[in-house]
Amino acid sequence: MHDVIVVGAGPAGSQTAASLAQRGYTVLVLEEHPQIGVPTNCSGLIGAEAFERFDLPRDSVIRGFNSATFFSPRGSCATVGADRVMAYVVRRCEFDQTMAQRAIACGASYLLRVRCVGLEQHNDHVTVTAVQRGPEGDEARMTFRARSVVVATGIRYGLLRALELKRPSAFLQAAQAEASMEGVDRVEVYLGRDVAPGSFAWAIPAGPVARVGVCNGAGAVEYLRRFLQHPSIASRLRQPVTQIKRKAIPIANICRSFRDRILLVGDAAGQVKVTTGGGISYGILCGDMAAATLDRAFRLGDLSERVLGEYERRWRQEIGVELRVGSFFRRVGGMLSDEQIDRLIRAYHDSDLPELVRRCADFERHRKFILALCRSNIFFQLVWNYFRRRSLS
Ligand SMILES: Cc1cc2nc3c(=O)[nH]c(=O)nc-3n(C[C@H](O)[C@H](O)[C@H](O)COP(=O)(O)OP(=O)(O)OC[C@H]3O[C@@H](n4cnc5c(N)ncnc54)[C@H](O)[C@@H]3O)c2cc1C
Repeated sequence: MHDVIVVGAGPAGSQTAASLAQRGYTVLVLEEHPQIGVPTNCSGLIGAEAFERFDLPRDSVIRGFNSATFFSPRGSCATVGADRVMAYVVRRCEFDQTMAQRAIACGASYLLRVRCVGLEQHNDHVTVTAVQRGPEGDEARMTFRARSVVVATGIRYGLLRALELKRPSAFLQAAQAEASMEGVDRVEVYLGRDVAPGSFAWAIPAGPVARVGVCNGAGAVEYLRRFLQHPSIASRLRQPVTQIKRKAIPIANICRSFRDRILLVGDAAGQVKVTTGGGISYGILCGDMAAATLDRAFRLGDLSERVLGEYERRWRQEIGVELRVGSFFRRVGGMLSDEQIDRLIRAYHDSDLPELVRRCADFERHRKFILALCRSNIFFQLVWNYFRRRSLS
């Protein structure tokens, strides 16, 4: 009998495991893949604040950024910057592995190639059914028992059905490739209907390669193929891109992230920045809160929903408004026409926006900036004109 079984060895799972093992609980992490962090499909940008707050491992950091350049559909651009490093780009596979090593150093155990296929709640424990896949592809069924379980399975929602929980209600599709490119020396963000309707595309320098990707509502792979032919990308490619990876990103959180003896963290709970689709730092933050809530529940000797519900209250208190404002901004931003995006970017340096960025920009928390942006003259006018034209037509 383990105190806690964590299902999934991504950043959210490993942070929860480390935090619980550090407090002296017996923790077992089950990971379905033979290697932690593989396969990975992520740009690996994490806010500088998260590194400070959670003392995240820095060995996997490739470099830091204090600015990003935004490109309009008509070729204008504006570089938005701060006087400090806002985010770091990491080698994601190495980052996940170091997070796991940290949890192991705290006393957690990991079992790889073990896919959890069922959870069954009992009065005093949870039965975890799993399938272990051998190197030859042979499979063996296994059963574990734990006093509680943390589901950190990313976008795999199969375990939720038995818990009568619903998966997040909205997703983006993301497609990304690692490209050998020249001249990408800061984060580049591309906007516009042809590039990524209602969303954005990016190129991020990551050591010898650039991570080039698109996220939008549907057809991300097709949009990425087209984006790779965009003059400012195609002209800098040293070699043709051969491999494109696709993955979904939840942009709505689930209605309920707890059950008797069970908590959900990270992408599994839809704890993702709605504006950008980034989920690493929120997953780590919520993993920490899950561990603190379980610690309290163990001390009280009560792992029922009554006590575990505290977890949901805590994470919603910390990031709930961020998620709601992000969701609002995604809707409003998605309505802007190419012409409006172009005007906004062209006017950037002569407007009050640089000052606003200086005052309010935070890589992980966009609420303050979004609310200030909505009050700024230029953005207000754009949205106002949009609604006026719509009501006249
Ligand atoms: C193209 C792309 C770019 C992105 N870029 C960024 C970025 O720059 N910054 C950022 O913050 N976020 C980014 N994200 C999102 C980020 O990757 C996720 O939010 C993050 O990985 C979520 O962490 P997690 O621990 O919740 O889940 P995951 O990292 O997905 O980990 C879940 C783990 O659980 C395992 N698992 C699943 N089911 C089972 C099971 N039944 N049994 C055992 N193991 C299981 C999986 O194998 C996996 O290892 C990006 C996403 C995409 C698709």
